[in-house]
Amino acid sequence: MLTRKVQLAFGSAILTLLVVGAVSYHSMVVSRESDRWVRHTHEVIENLQELLLAMEGMESSYRGFALTGKESYLESYHASLLSADQHEATVRHLTLDNPAQQHRLPILESLAAQKIQFAEMVINLRQAKGLEAAAQATAGGLGQLSMDEFRRIVRGLQDEELRLLVLRNGDVQRRLGQTKTALILGTVLGLLIAAAAGWSVLRESSRRGLAEKVLVHMERRYRGLLEAAPDAMVVVNQGGEIVLLNVQAEKQFGYRRDELIGQKVKNIIPEGFAERLIADGTRTATDALAQPMGTGIELSGRRRDGSEFPIEIMLSPLESTEGILVTAAIRNISLRKEAEKHLAQIEVGRRLTEDALRESEESYRILLDGIQNYAIFMMDPRGEIVSWNAGAERIKGYAADQIIGRNFSCFFPPEDIERGRPAEILRLTAASGRHEEQGMRVRKDGSRFVASLTFTALRDSAGDLRGFSEFSHDLSESKESGAKYRALLEAAPDAMVVVNQGGEIVLLNVQAEKQFGYSRDELVGQQVKNIIPEGFAERLIADGTRSAAQALAQHIGTGIALAGRRKDGTEFPIEIMLSPLESSEGILVTAAIRDITERNKSEEHLVKTVGELKRSNDELQQFAYVASHDLQEPLRMVASYTQLLAKRYQGRLDSDADEFIAFAVDGCHRMQGLIQDLLAYSRAGTNGRALCQVSGEDALEGALTNLRTTIEQSGAIVSHDSLPAITTDETQLTQVFQNLVGNAIKYRSAEVPRVHVSATKTGDNEWIFSVRDNGLGIAPQYFERIFILFQRLHGRNEFEGTGIGLAICKKVLERLGGRIWVESQPEKGSTFRFALPERGVN
Ligand code: ADP
Repeated sequence: MLTRKVQLAFGSAILTLLVVGAVSYHSMVVSRESDRWVRHTHEVIENLQELLLAMEGMESSYRGFALTGKESYLESYHASLLSADQHEATVRHLTLDNPAQQHRLPILESLAAQKIQFAEMVINLRQAKGLEAAAQATAGGLGQLSMDEFRRIVRGLQDEELRLLVLRNGDVQRRLGQTKTALILGTVLGLLIAAAAGWSVLRESSRRGLAEKVLVHMERRYRGLLEAAPDAMVVVNQGGEIVLLNVQAEKQFGYRRDELIGQKVKNIIPEGFAERLIADGTRTATDALAQPMGTGIELSGRRRDGSEFPIEIMLSPLESTEGILVTAAIRNISLRKEAEKHLAQIEVGRRLTEDALRESEESYRILLDGIQNYAIFMMDPRGEIVSWNAGAERIKGYAADQIIGRNFSCFFPPEDIERGRPAEILRLTAASGRHEEQGMRVRKDGSRFVASLTFTALRDSAGDLRGFSEFSHDLSESKESGAKYRALLEAAPDAMVVVNQGGEIVLLNVQAEKQFGYSRDELVGQQVKNIIPEGFAERLIADGTRSAAQALAQHIGTGIALAGRRKDGTEFPIEIMLSPLESSEGILVTAAIRDITERNKSEEHLVKTVGELKRSNDELQQFAYVASHDLQEPLRMVASYTQLLAKRYQGRLDSDADEFIAFAVDGCHRMQGLIQDLLAYSRAGTNGRALCQVSGEDALEGALTNLRTTIEQSGAIVSHDSLPAITTDETQLTQVFQNLVGNAIKYRSAEVPRVHVSATKTGDNEWIFSVRDNGLGIAPQYFERIFILFQRLHGRNEFEGTGIGLAICKKVLERLGGRIWVESQPEKGSTFRFALPERGVN
């Protein structure tokens, strides 16, 4: 408001100054014009004067010439003539705009022309006839006369110009005066307006100071009110800035008062509040506020920590000197919302339950109606029938409308009714909640049947008796249902027998007939003990505390091996699988019976074969040992004698004999090597020494000592990581290392052999030892083969050997509970690995 006034005031001041400027510019233009006229008038006057002077000069010149005849006068005459001509032309030109002057000019011109004509004449006379004639001509005074006339006219022209000059000067003065006045007035006006604006600003600001004071005052006054309010209260100005608030507001939003004052209300109520403060041109702030007012508006508030909570706000405008402020009462409605949600959930739950109840009632009715094999109906506490299902209609022969409302005693034979049996049943049921029995019943057509019945008392939640239900079925129909089971039983591959709790066979299949040699009729109703003398019936005796199902469950799932007895008295091994079968007559037991004669036979055969295998294996081993051991002796003899032969008769017989003897010696050596290796193989793992804690490094050290010559000769470099101590057989571990390191050096390539031994532990508590070499390597297809006895990849003339070393390693390691394998690539070297379990010393 204030700024608008100030703007207006300064605007008009500037406008006034602009007008003043325009006026002075205009007057400046006009005065310049007047100036030009004054200058113009002066010019005309001057030229007229010049013209007069030239004419006078011309007059005196021709007279001088006439008197003296001097040429110099003639020259000056011509110069004056020229000058007069020019000035005359100028005057004509300058006075073109003044008709009065133009009017006079021809007279002046003709006078001048006369004058010139006369002068020419005098000059000519002087030149032609001399001084005399010339003097005569001039004495006539004609020249003098016309000169006066000329002067007079020039004066007239000059006077006219002077008159105009006076007029124009007056005009300029007048205009200047006007301009001055306009300037003075304009400036004064501008100053006045500016002063007025300044004064107004001063007054406004002092008023504003007052308003601020009022605000402070108001704050003091309202603070008390605000603090007394139960809700958070926030006063906001039209700019959406918070002006005042109470302690509750501080608490609810988690800010301190000084943090909130001056803040945008948007920071604590992000949506919906600030929008309401925007008063457009057509509405006042009050209108804008009034629109949704009166009802609480539900929004959400944001705390200092960023969390949001539901709030309800009530806005009301508050007239103040600063304009309209808005007071907002803010209530945290989290609890209410929670309660509302809870209520809504309860309501939904209630509706769901209702629906479910209705549905379950419906489906229950449909279910009951769908049951054909059981009569199901309900009675009131006195036994009057209130509902009736399709099964009941089928079994008892009454349609629902014929029986509802009648007492259920109509299903009893007359003798039972006499005894008061129906009432007794109801009493029994009411007392225990449930009553079961088998009894005679009468159909609508008077025919009788034996039924199995279950009565249940129906009580409401308060425990009051509301009626009874009867659930019954015609026992004579059970045979039919048995037919259904039979089809199932026949499909089974084993003999199947169904037995009731009394141990009587109820059902059986063809396989059972065949296996036990009875016909079906002979078996149905018989005790199961007759065909399975032991073990089966025992399982059916359900003592007081256990249910039959529990008794069965004890052993169910695993096959039980028993003996079956055929009709002819012979017995055969069987395996039975029992499972309980819930039926309307109580729990039955289904037994699948398998004749295991054949299986037993093949098992026996297997056991025998394995035994035989082991025996022959042992014998073989024994034989190999004995053979190699006993063969050593004669072989040693053959070897020493052939060596003796070689020593003694070398070079004495012919060369063929020498060669033959050499072959024999060589053969003996090989034979000895083979036998030694064989012996080692048959001994491997059999010496049965107790295992002990062995240092892997010691075992390797032992092997390297045995291999010292080989290592030295080949220049091999054998290295190893630190190796673990392990529970095993030291000699055998040394042997394995020796074979593997020996092979690594033997099957070397052109390079210096390098062998590295290392060990790692796996998650399965196993140590894996590796012997890596840089030798010839092995193609993958031989990875398995090299561990078989006598299998070699190289000929004897390439590398010495028997093909037993790795077989020994494999045997030894397997006896120790380990395994061995190889990883290799031809020409890239091989890594033999073996695994040994890490076990405690035993
Ligand atoms: P032998 O060394 O007496 O022939 P082995 O059972 O120790 O018998 O080895 C069987 C075969 O496996 C060897 O003939 C050889 O061809 C191959 N072999 C064994 N170790 C290596 C090795 N480190 N590098 C390459 N080939 C090997």
